[in-house]
Order: sequence, then structure tokens, then C-alpha cells
Amino acid sequence: MFTSLSDRLTETFKNLRSKGRLTESDVNKTIRDIRLALLDADVALPVVKEFTHSVRERALGAEVSEALNPAQQVVKIVNEELVGILGGQTRTIAFAKQPPTVIMLAGLQGAGKTTLAGKLSKWLKDQGHTPLLVAADLQRPNAVTQLEVVGERAGVPVFAPERGNVFGHDVVSETGEGTRSHGDPVAVSRAGVEHARRAQHDVVIVDTAGRLAIDANLMQQAADIRAAIQPDEVLFVIDAMIGQAAVETARAFQDGVDLTGVVLTKLDGDARGGAALSVASVTGRPIMFASTGEGVKDFEVFHPDRMASRILD
Ligand code: GDP
Repeated sequence: MFTSLSDRLTETFKNLRSKGRLTESDVNKTIRDIRLALLDADVALPVVKEFTHSVRERALGAEVSEALNPAQQVVKIVNEELVGILGGQTRTIAFAKQPPTVIMLAGLQGAGKTTLAGKLSKWLKDQGHTPLLVAADLQRPNAVTQLEVVGERAGVPVFAPERGNVFGHDVVSETGEGTRSHGDPVAVSRAGVEHARRAQHDVVIVDTAGRLAIDANLMQQAADIRAAIQPDEVLFVIDAMIGQAAVETARAFQDGVDLTGVVLTKLDGDARGGAALSVASVTGRPIMFASTGEGVKDFEVFHPDRMASRILD
């Protein structure tokens, strides 16, 4: 990812470096090149505008460092602004004072939620947590089975009451909720969190249903689940490959369910990077994790500063 954007910016800065002093017109040309590179990488127009505006103001402003030549200063400013639109500081899960910490996953179908649920649970387990996965995606016929496979791979139990069981036991006898929660994602989510509390899982990850496109029913269901389980984190899972559509989708989920963070998936693909560069800015929520493949370990904490350096390298 970002190969083309990275190459374009490198080229832009190479041209800049050949100049001893920068005139206003050099800065303007550089800004124009950056703007086009970002647009070609599918970064959303409002984000591009804000970005180039800040860079321009700062590059032409009074920011002068003795230690850096003018070209280096522009690169430094672009780097800092990139870190800013990628969310600034690194942030991961904010654990609840009173366990269980409840994490809800939301996003479109195919975004990679179920895969991510496995990865995130494995990551938590490796840190000594005792996560539980809850299969509240009852829309897609195979979703529950898929989460069970993912859970098995991660070595993390799955609460799936519509199966009539949770890790091989009868849910009815375990939680008393089994029959009532059958088929109702809100009730399944609530029962899952309740089960986690009783069975002393310190983190519970609720995998919710997605649709191929945003629709009012899906958003209402996600909002109902949110209201029922009062999650500590609502993570928006988004496929980095969807380009420009990322902005509209992210905005809809932000308005519909009030997100707390973003997870980018399929960063191993050849996406141009626009989604990554737009989503934090559009939602006002940090990108916390990146999913980089189909395996349970293809997962990392997202560091805005490292990503910015990668783009500018
Ligand atoms: P969901 O509908 O949101 O639950 O999405 P899934 O977890 O079922 O993922 C949809 C498809 O994308 C599956 O074929 C996954 O194997 C694949 N997938 C998920 N995450 C990644 C990733 O980070 N990289 C790649 N290459 N594929 C992924």
C-alpha cells in the first residue's frame, strides 16, 4: 500500500531539495504536487484541502529552524501533518475499570470484522487477557461458523447461543438466556456480555452483522446493540481497498453508532491508501489497529508516526 503515493511524494521532495532557497512559488508548486498525489491516492477532497492548507500556512509561515534547510523543513511539516491526519498518538483498547471490557465491532459485510475478531482476541490473549467472542452476526448464514473457526484458531471461546451451545455446553443451563436470545442479535449480544461477566472473561468482543451497503436497518440494529451492551469500545472495521467510498461509509457509521476507534483491514493489498488517510480525519476517531492478511497473526497496532514515515521514506 501507499507505493504510488510514496513514490510521488519522494519525487516532489527530490525536486525541492535541488533548490537552495524556497520561494513562495516553489512552495505553491510543492503543495500542488502533494495535493494531486493525495487525490490520486483516493484521499477524500475535504481532507486533502485541510491538509494542504495547513502545510502551506506552516511552510510559508514563521517556522524556521536553523538546523534544517528549507526542503527539509517542508518534509518535516508534511510528516507532522500526516501523523496528525492519521490520528496523532498511538492508541489501543481502553480497558474498563470494572471488567469485562466490552468491544463491539461494526462495519460493512466483507470488511474483515470476523477475521479481525479472531486476530484481536488472539492479541488480547497473548497479553494475558481472557477474551470471549460473541457471534451476533446472524445475518450471514455462515458467519457463526466462521467465527467458531476463527475462535478455534485463536484459542478463544465463542458464545453462539443460536447453536444451543457455548463451547460445547448448553447455553440455557449456563446463562438462562439461550432460548430467548435465539435469532435476535441484540439479545445474543446482551447474553454474551452477561455470560462473559459470569464466566469471568475480562474482555468480550461482539461481532455484529454487516450489509453490502449502508442501510437504515443495519444501522438501527448496530445502534440497538450499542445501547444494550454499553461497549467500552466501538471499533469500525474498514477495508482499506474501498477507496473513496470509505468516507461516506465511515461518516454513516460514526453518525449511526458513535464509534470510538477504527481498524483498517487488507493493508497487505495494493490499496492506494486513501481510506487510511481519510477515515481518522472524517470520524475524528483514531485508527487503532491494522489487519495485514488472512492469518490470525497478521495484525498490528497502528502507529500514525510510523505510517507517516513509511509514506515519506
Ligand atoms: P466480515 O464480513 O466483515 O466479517 O468479513 P470477513 O472477516 O469474513 O472477511 C472478508 C474476506 O476478507 C475474507 O475472505 C477474509 O479472509 C478476507 N480478509 C479479512 N481481513 C483481511 C486482511 O487483512 N487481508 C486480506 N488479504 N484479506 C482479509
